[in-house]
Amino acid sequence: MMHIVVPVEVLVGRLHARRVCGVCGTNADPTKPDVGVCASCGGALVTRADDDEQVVRNRLQIYEDRTAPLVNYYQDRPTFFTIDGNVSPDTVAGAMKDALASAMAVAEGGTR
Ligand SMILES: [Zn+2]
Repeated sequence: MMHIVVPVEVLVGRLHARRVCGVCGTNADPTKPDVGVCASCGGALVTRADDDEQVVRNRLQIYEDRTAPLVNYYQDRPTFFTIDGNVSPDTVAGAMKDALASAMAVAEGGTR
C-alpha cells in the first residue's frame, strides 16, 4: 500500500486552481495559468463545479474519514509506504517506483 501524503491546504489550492476546457473537457496546463483558452480547441477554460473550494474540502474530509482507518490497519506491514506527495511529479513517481520495488522484494522473500 502506498500512502501519498499532501497537506490539505496544498490539495485545496491545487484542485481549486485546476481549469478545464468548457468545450472539450481537456485539462488546462497548470504551468500556464494565464492562457485562458484550451490548447486543443481554443475553448474557454472553466473551473469544474466539483473543484469548488467547499466541495473539495468535503471530498478531502470523506477521503480522510474512510482512509485513516486503512492506514492504521496497514501501516505496520513491510509493504506499506508513506510517500511525500508535496514534491514534483517526477520525484513522487520515483518514490512510488522505489516503494513498488521494495514491496516486490518483500513479496518474493515471503514465498521462499
Ligand atoms: Zn477544448
